[in-house]
Amino acid sequence: MRHKRLVDERQSADLVRMPLPALLAALTLAAAQPTDSLSRAERALIRHVDADTAAAFALLERVVNINSGTLNLAGVRRVGAVFRAELDALGFKTTWEDGTAFGRAGHLIAEHPGKGTRILLIGHLDTVFEPDSPFQRFERVDHKTARGPGIVDMKGGDVIIVQALKALKAAQLLDDLHVTVIMTGDEEDSGDPMAVSRRSLLDLARRHDVAIGFENGSGDPHKAVIARRGYTAWTLTTTAAAAHSSQIFTPAVGSGAIFETARILAEFHQRLAGQPFLTFNPGLALGGTDVTVDPTGVRGTAFGKSNVVAARMVTSGDLRILSPEQLATTKETMRRIVAETGPQTTATITFDDGYPPLPPSPGNQRLLEIYDRISRDIGFGPVAATDPMRAGAADISFTAGLVAMAMDGIGGAGRDDHSERETADLSVFPALIKRAAILFHRLSRIQPTS
Ligand SMILES: [Zn+2]
Repeated sequence: MRHKRLVDERQSADLVRMPLPALLAALTLAAAQPTDSLSRAERALIRHVDADTAAAFALLERVVNINSGTLNLAGVRRVGAVFRAELDALGFKTTWEDGTAFGRAGHLIAEHPGKGTRILLIGHLDTVFEPDSPFQRFERVDHKTARGPGIVDMKGGDVIIVQALKALKAAQLLDDLHVTVIMTGDEEDSGDPMAVSRRSLLDLARRHDVAIGFENGSGDPHKAVIARRGYTAWTLTTTAAAAHSSQIFTPAVGSGAIFETARILAEFHQRLAGQPFLTFNPGLALGGTDVTVDPTGVRGTAFGKSNVVAARMVTSGDLRILSPEQLATTKETMRRIVAETGPQTTATITFDDGYPPLPPSPGNQRLLEIYDRISRDIGFGPVAATDPMRAGAADISFTAGLVAMAMDGIGGAGRDDHSERETADLSVFPALIKRAAILFHRLSRIQPTS
């Protein structure tokens, strides 16, 4: 179903005709006033970002108008080529990692070796809107808002990365920086196997001190993500001897596969529910005499009769945790519960780890403090941590434990990503670029101990 348009056609046309100088003036009025805690170099960065605002919006519009649904491999590559050219122009050594081995377009990697803290910047080129989606174009909604597929998730974040680096170059502050950019082509729907599709990201994380993701996060520019939960899928299969229902609960027949599954799920709930940051949810359950589950894992068939003890049940669900330790202990508890099977029944549980968790750490906290300081210094106000329960999975999580400091969710501000109402707040866009540029600059001069 298509969503209702945000503004009526005529009103929208008027705003789109608003001349660029008027738009820029409106944005300058809304711009933050810097305090005097900024160095001369940082003031220069701010001037360069302001001078390049029109180019930032033009780049954003250009990439939003190229469809790059994850499975539109050519489109993802085309967006990658646009950012690659921008980074080439700044003197980065760029490579395109082909994604054939994991069934996706691939990743853009751009390296700029230098001294000091080694900074890894993470973006993604793909969106959830494939070419058959009706949502394809960048559209100005009013003087501060634009709508478009991926405008905040996360082409806006990619543009912030590029524009911040451009400002550093213009201020002659880029030369010394050790900074690497990776823009993955399959964040929304990762290629398989994940060990291959995320290998470059992991390798880069091992060689860097700090990782910063420019996802839109909560969409609130006064929030950043320094902890997020990971995701693991699980499948529980129970089997029992089919028998006449009149003999259920006897030692020779047992309770059947459905009762056995009920016991296991009830104990999962009893022993694990309510732990901080842990959630788990059985999303599909099929039981009876005969059960088949489609290869997609989201659909299946079941046949059974009320007078026959169920022979088989398959249940699949998810599991979200905040740390690798929490994942390990949760799996262990689940396995123990599963192993306590009654007579004539067997039960097995398998786990399929998806995105790992990004646990909170002193290093991540320190990175947020540095960023919060910068935000206040430029007069934009404080930045606080997003509640990990509200932070979705993202590529930053793969850097957990490999870098001293990690933070995400400092990309575009806006709302309603993954829907046709996805909009960006352009009025804060220059401030977001300034914060990023000053962050890279300040980070290059500190000891990144965790
Ligand atoms: Zn995203």
